[in-house]
Amino acid sequence: MNRKDFLRTSSFLILGGAAALKVSAKDTPSLHHSTAPLAKESKEGQYPMYDLHVHTSQSQSIEDIVRKSREMGLSFGVMQNVAPWGIKTNEDLQAYLDEMSKYPVYIGLQPMSLGWSKNLSPELIAKADYVAMDPQVVPKANGYGEQIEVYTYASYIDSAETFMQANMDYYMKILSKEEPIDIFACPLLLPNAIEREYHTLWTKERQEMIIEACRKNVIAIEINDLMHVPHKEFILKAKKAGVKFTFGSDTRNQQTGRLIYCHTIAKECGLEMKDFFIPKRKLG
Ligand SMILES: [Zn+2]
Repeated sequence: MNRKDFLRTSSFLILGGAAALKVSAKDTPSLHHSTAPLAKESKEGQYPMYDLHVHTSQSQSIEDIVRKSREMGLSFGVMQNVAPWGIKTNEDLQAYLDEMSKYPVYIGLQPMSLGWSKNLSPELIAKADYVAMDPQVVPKANGYGEQIEVYTYASYIDSAETFMQANMDYYMKILSKEEPIDIFACPLLLPNAIEREYHTLWTKERQEMIIEACRKNVIAIEINDLMHVPHKEFILKAKKAGVKFTFGSDTRNQQTGRLIYCHTIAKECGLEMKDFFIPKRKLG
């Protein structure tokens, strides 16, 4: 999700890991012809058994993800960042698609800033199963004109209102769908300095603006397992508006597959299969 994590997770692209992946894939041919479950329903029939937001990393290879998928009866969507440090060109994107398509996983793109699609071919982008973008790198988000990276401890917030205005502007630009987006990832997360004011700062009006943009432009909302966002009230409002959801953990290690927050809040909100975005492609 962030640069640090990306550098850890994307050795596949940066360090020429594609070749390594090919070799290891050869060693484990059974992984390629798996009958991994495809977004099947939970036992209760309430929600899909999937996690559309996982990353590979030094502590979790694509083979580990596929193995976990089989063992746990979960389908996974593997995300790769589109960013100056990740996928930058059509060649990068093609290499990623080629490698990931050997495995029974969904293929997701996770751009990190607006303007990400201008150097990429629309046809290639469309070959991914979905694009998910989070609003976590907010431009000019404090009185000093600084960019705020919502996930970092060191985000400097001088005024919660200044931040929220810039934050909402950024949300609305992403959700305008000028560039492809299927899933709005990790919504409503706030910087540490103001996260205690979450329920005050996420006013009814702000929540409704976000939900309306998602409804109008057919963008699903990720329920993020790691950050416990969004909250119940927001999910219920979005559900009422007919917006779809996904489960996403944004994990890259032993945490992958837990989904405790996702499953708990989905039950609490009475979400059903019809409330979820399911990628079109059949896996396996
Ligand atoms: Zn991520």
